Amino acid sequence: MTSFSAADLRRMLSHLRDVMAGVGTVQERLDKTVTLIAHGLKADVCSCYVMRAGEVLELFSTFGLSQTAVHMTRLRVGEGLVGEIAAHARAIALADAWSHPQFVYRPETGEDFFRSLMGVPMLQAGRVIGVLVVQTRDQRPFNDWEVEMLETVAMVIAELITASQVVKREELFQAEGNALLAMRLTGASLHPGMGIGVAVMHKPHVRIGRLISDDPIIEERRLQNALDALRREVDAMIHDAHADASLYGDILEVYRMFADDRGWISRISEAIGSGLTAEAAVQRAHDDTRARMQQMTDPILRERLQDLDDLANRLLNILSGGGMRSELPDNAILVCRSIGPTELLDYDRKKLRGLVMEEGSPTMHAIVVAKALDIPVVAQVEGALQRIDAFDQIVLDGNAGQIILRPSEEFVEAATAAMEARARQRESYAAVKHLPSVTADGEAITLNLNAGFLIDLQALSETNATGIGLYRTEMPFLSMTKLPDVRTQRALYRQVVEASGGKPVTFRTLDVGGDKIAASTMATAEDNPAMGWRSIRLTLDRPSLLRQQLRALIAATAGGTLRVMFPMIATVAEFDEARFILDRELARHGDDGGDAPKEIKVGTMLEVPSLLWQLDAIARRADFISVGSNDLMQFVFAADRGNTRVANRYDTLSPAFLRMLSYIATHCAAAGTELSICGEMAGRPLEAMALIALGFRNLSMSASGIGPVRAMIRSLNADEAARYVGGLLNTERLSVRQDLRAFARDHNIVLQ
Ligand code: PEP
Ligand code: MG
Repeated sequence: MTSFSAADLRRMLSHLRDVMAGVGTVQERLDKTVTLIAHGLKADVCSCYVMRAGEVLELFSTFGLSQTAVHMTRLRVGEGLVGEIAAHARAIALADAWSHPQFVYRPETGEDFFRSLMGVPMLQAGRVIGVLVVQTRDQRPFNDWEVEMLETVAMVIAELITASQVVKREELFQAEGNALLAMRLTGASLHPGMGIGVAVMHKPHVRIGRLISDDPIIEERRLQNALDALRREVDAMIHDAHADASLYGDILEVYRMFADDRGWISRISEAIGSGLTAEAAVQRAHDDTRARMQQMTDPILRERLQDLDDLANRLLNILSGGGMRSELPDNAILVCRSIGPTELLDYDRKKLRGLVMEEGSPTMHAIVVAKALDIPVVAQVEGALQRIDAFDQIVLDGNAGQIILRPSEEFVEAATAAMEARARQRESYAAVKHLPSVTADGEAITLNLNAGFLIDLQALSETNATGIGLYRTEMPFLSMTKLPDVRTQRALYRQVVEASGGKPVTFRTLDVGGDKIAASTMATAEDNPAMGWRSIRLTLDRPSLLRQQLRALIAATAGGTLRVMFPMIATVAEFDEARFILDRELARHGDDGGDAPKEIKVGTMLEVPSLLWQLDAIARRADFISVGSNDLMQFVFAADRGNTRVANRYDTLSPAFLRMLSYIATHCAAAGTELSICGEMAGRPLEAMALIALGFRNLSMSASGIGPVRAMIRSLNADEAARYVGGLLNTERLSVRQDLRAFARDHNIVLQ
């Protein structure tokens, strides 16, 4: 087997094509296929296991094992070596399979005599649909080339199995025993709101007609032409996005980077060299990348996967000459395993009522787009693609993170009423949008927006916010492996300044590290990344990063105001050091003859508790302080903000936390230092009420908070609230949330 060459593989693929195109049932053709593979590889056994309902792998066809075991031997995913391959979508190659701890002996198969084993997953659209295994009597090691070759063959068989519908969807339903009844599926709410509509399946998988080719030169040419077309497509989208208020530009630029990724393209070319058509090679390379990336635990890198899925799909579409979109119904609920940002943008927003995803995470680009377009999203819905049929009616509840499939009429009526109520509520926010955010007793409160993508800036005019209180500069770069150069950064920051139309923007320097970093930037994995080498610590240790960013910010705000703040400052010395670097960059900029910003304000985040005991000193130095209550809360209570088991254990409305906030407000007022708060609590009306009572006059929040908080402010008497909250600070209760609710109710304060 070790002497198997690329020419042998091409020959075998060409035989496979004949078998697959030949006559006979699927069973007969698969039987011929496994025989062919066993002979081709000089193996004693070749078996094909197919995934059945209930995550069970059934021995579907074999050469070399006992024929009586066919359709009888079944292994659960995770059981034995075959189950292990399916569970992790990863190949296994062992010279001595018997000594592996996962090995499970199945006497009915007669596999007593076979020592070595090489198995690979059969993948369809990134999903494991079976396992292909070869075994030999001798203890024989397998090399990487052999594994890759078996993966190529497995891909071809996977197409045969899918095309012939060996596993039918109905079969899966029967296994669940409730074919077409209403069903509730739960997931994670990634953007709130409700939608009622019919399921439209976003087609992530393009059926590949021809898999095997005799002429790699022609296929390579087809690939290059398709890549050119793909680049043109992405460039056109970037161009449109720039014309369209520069909103999606940053996301698409990241995207173009992937389209030019040499590693990805050379893997496709290699697969063409092994005898596949261009489209099969794209699928092959993509399955491979997908399987490898799925093993990664880094959420940021896993998010790159969606972008790669998106690109591979586009490429497949170009190659198969297909138009991707059929007519979209007026009330579409899009259902997908995952989706890329540009794919989502391809749909007509006016017709989209919601998005259901099997995968998905809050910071992936498609979700950023969905938020900006205000499309409710329920993600991480297990089995969504298997359970939902095109044109099924769906009520999507993005607030509760659930969808109701094929709902009853009564349910649809109730959901419609809830949606109408929400629409009325939104209208009421729109009605107060232009009214000043001033309390009933005349205290003016500044309402700012938190942003991270250009797309977020759209909300500035929609909400009539005063400005951007927190611009998280790391957001557009999270999935990149290295930061862009000064020119690119400057162009991006300039776009931010322009899109904000003269409203003030506070740029926060890079807050990478912790859960926010492209893995390659990180030298070593840390046990406790939130408290590790992140944020200002990282940029002070790698000052060129900070220098370049500051240089870009100075240039982007030339002639205007530069408001910049540093994250995760734990000591006054860190602030001084960062400020020193800024001053040096300003001097350098002046020496080079560049226009300087007319006004410069330098602030700090207050999110590390140690700064509380240096508050007077930092308040003297900084032009402004912004409380990062998300991090401050996690460090004060030693409760990981990302760990749901502890994140909700303590309340921001506990007397302890409120006392601390009161201390900050009092000291900043005494020092005359501008104070704001930009953690999530600022955007929740009840919490915002408490903050105003404690003396905060500047709140920065995500767009969805501005309407409700503005409505609350206009119904609040700040002085009364200050007296009431002051009286609660010394209580020993765990939380004063209920007291604050009662106060709001008794004083007709609007909390929605
Ligand atoms: C915070 O920690 O409260 C904050 C606003 O910063 P981030 O959420 O980006 O860490
Ligand atoms: Mg923070």
